[in-house]
Amino acid sequence: MKHKISVLAIWFLLDQFSAAVPQGHATPIPETKPLFDLNGIGFVEGVDVPSAKPQPEKAVPKQKNQQTAISENSCIIPNAEFEELEPVSGAIREGQLNDIACGISDPVRLESVSAVGHKIEFSSPVTVSCKFAKVVAEWLREDVLPLALNNLETSVSVIQSGPGYQCRRRNNLPDGKLSEHALGKALDISHFKLGNGTIISVEDDWGKRTKESKFLDRIHAAACKRFTTVLGPEADPNHKSHIHLDTGCHGQDCTYIICQ
Ligand SMILES: [Zn+2]
Repeated sequence: MKHKISVLAIWFLLDQFSAAVPQGHATPIPETKPLFDLNGIGFVEGVDVPSAKPQPEKAVPKQKNQQTAISENSCIIPNAEFEELEPVSGAIREGQLNDIACGISDPVRLESVSAVGHKIEFSSPVTVSCKFAKVVAEWLREDVLPLALNNLETSVSVIQSGPGYQCRRRNNLPDGKLSEHALGKALDISHFKLGNGTIISVEDDWGKRTKESKFLDRIHAAACKRFTTVLGPEADPNHKSHIHLDTGCHGQDCTYIICQ
């Protein structure tokens, strides 16, 4: 296993302790908390609403012996800290739709991505499919971090996002197609905390004549080369507070890109 399977309680990460990783037994799922206080604002539209203090998920980490047994199929995400989970389906948080059509066969809880000596942490780990996590990690490593270093002269240290997996339909409607969030193939990002402490808000900084706004434009454009759906504040009012990224299939051969 090349990646670092982290079974650290997340508050160890948040407090920036380093500690020995307990191995070889099932680990209780830690309760998580945001790395920086957004005064409970975060997401305000009615679609992707993580609680200010995320609820613990009913997603179960794989035990070490199970990881060994399926090592041929294990998830590999270079330079990332993540935890492989048992397959999930239906609701894993209170308030979610409990539809068996929702689920991820290869879920991971992605905690951070590192490149060129910089670590980008998620304010709370995100639960997504292994394949989707790889795309997110590549975008962060190869686009987001270099764009920040080159244009803002600082790194990106924390990403405030939704939880990733959510069993629900598109736009939280009672009927209609399942959201890509329900398949672990989507993520919503609302804020970027930079290495110098600055917080860039999608809602507040989008569309302005500032370097922060230009940064958001650039990472949005870069995302359109990696994801099949990228929806920012110009897409519709549902996305005024965040950038939605997913790898859903559009068109008959899944090559159509929605970049708004
Ligand atoms: Zn979304």
